[in-house]
Formats: sequence, C-alpha cells, structure tokens
Amino acid sequence: PSISRLLVLVTVSGGSLVAYADAGPTNGVPSIASTANVDEKKKKVVVLGTGWAGTSFLKNIKDPSYEVQVISPRNYFAFTPLLPSVTCGTVEARSIVEPIRNLVRKKRVDIRFNEAECYKIDAENRKLYCRSNENNNLNGKKEFVVDYDYLVIAVGAQVNTFNTPGVVENCHFLKEVEDAQRIRRTVIDCFERASLPTLDEEDRKKILHFAIVGGGPTGVEFAAELHDFVNEDLVKLYPGLQEFVKITLLEAGDHILNMFDKRITTFAEEKFRRDGIDVKTGSMVIKVTDKEISTKEMKNGEISSMPYGMTVWSTGIGTRPIIKDFMTQIGQANRRALATDEWLRVEGCDNVYALGDCATINQRKVMEDISAIFSKADKDNSGTLTVKEFQEVIDDICERYPQVELYLKNKQMHNIVDLLKGSKGDVAKESIELDIEEFKSALSQVDSQMKNLPATAQVAAQQGAYLAHCFNRMEECEKYPEGPLRFRGSGRHRFRAFRYKHLGQFAPLGGEQTAAQLPGDWVSIGHSSQWLWYSVYASKQVSWRTRALVVTDWTRRFIFGRDSSRI
Ligand code: FAD
Repeated sequence: PSISRLLVLVTVSGGSLVAYADAGPTNGVPSIASTANVDEKKKKVVVLGTGWAGTSFLKNIKDPSYEVQVISPRNYFAFTPLLPSVTCGTVEARSIVEPIRNLVRKKRVDIRFNEAECYKIDAENRKLYCRSNENNNLNGKKEFVVDYDYLVIAVGAQVNTFNTPGVVENCHFLKEVEDAQRIRRTVIDCFERASLPTLDEEDRKKILHFAIVGGGPTGVEFAAELHDFVNEDLVKLYPGLQEFVKITLLEAGDHILNMFDKRITTFAEEKFRRDGIDVKTGSMVIKVTDKEISTKEMKNGEISSMPYGMTVWSTGIGTRPIIKDFMTQIGQANRRALATDEWLRVEGCDNVYALGDCATINQRKVMEDISAIFSKADKDNSGTLTVKEFQEVIDDICERYPQVELYLKNKQMHNIVDLLKGSKGDVAKESIELDIEEFKSALSQVDSQMKNLPATAQVAAQQGAYLAHCFNRMEECEKYPEGPLRFRGSGRHRFRAFRYKHLGQFAPLGGEQTAAQLPGDWVSIGHSSQWLWYSVYASKQVSWRTRALVVTDWTRRFIFGRDSSRI
C-alpha cells in the first residue's frame, strides 16, 4: 500500500507548544496538534505499548524518515521473566525496569512518548482515542486524539480469570511490576500476622497457606521462589512458624508445565513433592471467597474447599478491552487475539500492524491459501501432482508460511519432505503421482498445532525487531521486493514473512536448579542450567544499567539473603 497520506495532526512535543482543536471528526475529544517540528514529509508511526514487542520495535527502528509516537500507560519497559524474582525480593523491582525515554534518547529517529492509554482505535479514519493517566492530565483535559499513517498495536494481554467468581476481588495476579510488589508485601504481611500472640495453631495454618492457581511456567516459578524465600530466609526470622507454612499449587490439567518436555514435567513434580510443595493436578478452581478456595476434581467432580492466607492467580492470558472493541469493529469478534497475516498486518486494515500477546497469525487463511495454491498447481484437476510439482508447491508454501516448514521439519511429515527433497533431479521419482487431498488433510489436522505461536517475550521481541526491519527497508523493498511471489494479484511481496526462531525456554524450579529445554528438544535440568539461566537473563537485559542492577541483586542475595522488610 502506498504511503501517500500526509500528516495532519502531529504529536505532543515534550509538553510544549501544544494546541487543542475541538472538532467534529473526533466527536468532541480534543485533537492534539503541535505547531512545532511539523515535517510533512515524515510518515507518522504510532506505537501502542512499551512491552516486549513495542520496545523491540523502538530499539530496532532506524530510518529517520519516520516520526514515531509512542503511547503507553507505562513509561518504562519491564523485564517480565524476572517478575517472579521480584515477588520475594530476589531482585528489586527497579532493577528490572528501564524508562522508555532512556531507551530511545540516543536514536537518530524522532521518537516521542506520551504516558496515556489508548481506549479506542478508529482504523477507518486513522485516529486513536487516548486518555492520559489520572495524575497527568492535560490542562484539565484527560482525553486526546492522535492521527497516524502507520499503527503498531503492541498492547499485550491481560490476566484471564475465566469468569471464576471471587478471583478479581480476592486473588493476587502476577502480570505487572506492581503485582509483584504487592505479592512481596502480602507474603511478609502473612508472616507478621501469623506471629501475633493472639492466634491459635489453626489460624496460623490458615494465614500461612499460600495457594497458587495455575501450573504454567509463571505459577511454577513463583511457587519455587516462595519456597526458597520461606526456607532460606523467613524461617530464620520467624522461628517456630515453619511447621505452619504450606504451599499448594493447583492445576486443572493432568500435569504442571505441560508445554515442556515430559522429562521436565516429571522432574518438576517430583522435586516439588520432595520440597513439600503440595501439587494438586486435575483440580479446577471454581470459586474464591475472602477466606476459602473451592475446587472441583476433574476425575470425579468432587467439590472441596480450603482456607488460605494468600492466593496468586496465574492461569493464562485474556484479551484487553481495546482489542475486543477493535476486533468487533473490523469483523473479528469472538477471537482471542487480533488476526494478522504473516507480515503482521491486521487483516482488513490498511497500515495497521499487531504483534506480541495481542495478536496471532491467522491460520485459517493459511489453510485457504494452501488449498488455493494446490488447486492452481493441479491444472488438469486430477487431484494428484507429480513429485516434482509437489515439491515446487511445498517450496512455495514453506517460503510463504515459515511455520508450515517448521511443522513439516519437526513432525511426522518430514518423510514426505525428505522424499520430495531427495527426488530432485531423479526423473523416475519425479513422475510419481501424490495425492493432494491426503497431504492437505494431514496439514489441516495439525492446523491447531501450527496455529498459535506461544504468547512469550521471545515471540513478541522477534516480531518487534522484524517489523522495525521491514519499516527500515520499506522504500528499498518497494523497488526490490524480497518476499515470495504474491499468490493473489501479481508480482512479489515486499518482504519475507515473519519467521519465528525458537531459542529454547527455562523453568526455574528453586534450590538453584532450573530446567532448560533448548532447540532440538535438548533438555538439561539442574544446577548447570541455573547458571545458564543467570547468564541468559543477564545478557538479555535491555540496558547495561538494568544488567548491572540485576547482577548486583543476585550477588546481594547470595551474601545477605533476601530483604523481608514490609515497605
Ligand atoms: P506486554 O509486554 O504485556 O506489553 C504491553 C504494553 O502495552 C505495556 O507497556 C502496557 O502498559 C501497554 N498497554 C496496555 N494497554 C494499553 C493501551 N490501551 N494503550 C496503550 N498501551 C497499552 N515470556 C518469555 O518468553 N519468557 C519468560 O520467562 C516469561 N516469563 C514471564 C513471567 C511473567 C510473570 C509474565 C507475566 C510473563 C512472562 N512471559 C515470559 C511472557 C511475556 O512477558 C509476554 O509474552 C510479553 O510481555 C508479551 O509482550 P507484549 O509486548 O505483547 O506485551
């Protein structure tokens, strides 16, 4: 799509020279225009969000012909993989955050930041309706409208309670830095309350019962951190309370860490049992009151309740209201996340991109395209193709849809690909006819496995870097496209499709032991992986400042233990 749209309204310029225009198209909400720095040649990119995807985009955008405006209610980037460590004071909250202004300060691209939340996207008129934070209103006006030429939506996701009654009112979440700080205070609070002389044993047991709902990586890591905090630090400070402490991990599925290799799952479950963490699998939480959690056993439907002192809810992610609203507008209602194509463009919207946890690459369209590619190749409508033709079609599909290639390589289909690949130049084999439907139905069976990339920082960061890279070479690639031949229309696509590179994942299990699942299904569990975890997480920090702070915090913890002050 051409980049012809001229900039009408421009960004707030460091709070100065801001003009407001109450006008019809924005429904009475003031538009923001700057009377300074108006460069009509610059294309305006608005980025929503300063999480993994948004920050990675900002760090990688290099073309000074863009003017970038960032809108986010959070003026910092948070290194979420270390949030569980913040809950117990292993690292401090400020050590894992970096002000976004620091990250973009030295860039050659004109990047400005506004601390505000976007509450409505109007893609038809290319307008964003924003609301500033409570304490930061603009001359009494909290709302404003921003125009864009390109929109990058990277607002992430929110916690998912599955509408379980009482969860919002009574549970802690572990999604934001503030959540981790709140958990840290509550843990200490529970120990202080349990030390009061007025309590009997039953009360102490209730107060010191920590329940964690969700056996995914976050819930498991928090359980491990809490266990270490209690056994390494708190038992020394609160003598006599250890016998009352109980940590319960509730998981509705059959196993914890079920997205990991079976060896890791088994090791984690056994380690937790040895550590005295009560792992209750097949147990679904159906209600939480201010005193009790009710669970239903998946096997026999039996319902029971248990009292608790603190509950942390960590069961996955849901859709933010702004995304829900936008999806309804563009006919994508009833989805969990915004559907994009493999170039991260939101389907049906010009110049709107979505990445990270709020987006998903639409596989339904992939399957439609694959069917169409086969039909086109099957000129005589016989339902079969020769090996040679098959190979060409598969090469085309794999170039367009990298996840299909990944799937073919990793799963049972690799024999067909090998067969096809091995057949190059072999005339005898090239004449073998292969059934298209058989191949297509095998692919559609695995549709759900190909479907969603995991909602992880790794995916979000890679998408942000990919998109910035595309923006940096937009003009060059208009002239010299690098992507595969377009299926619909003529010519080539400007860019290669987004290709996710999985670098592995960690599951810290406490006691200086970590499970690591690296590419090629290579599994390592134990103390050596813990050192790998330290080095990877230190190297992945977004700045030298946070890197130094995190390493200092780890060292401090080794020497002095964790701080248990309730501040
Ligand atoms: P986020 O990082 O959530 O960022 C969203 C941004 O959008 C935020 O800045 C937010 O303030 C902003 N925003 C929200 N609403 C609006 C709005 N209306 N307008 C404008 N801006 C808005 N992943 C891993 O790969 N490895 C791990 O070890 C790992 N550990 C994790 C541990 C925890 C405790 C958690 C919570 C997550 C962890 N993840 C991990 C997942 C990872 O954090 C997410 O996948 C990643 O943050 C997604 O990036 P994102 O940019 O899409 O969203």
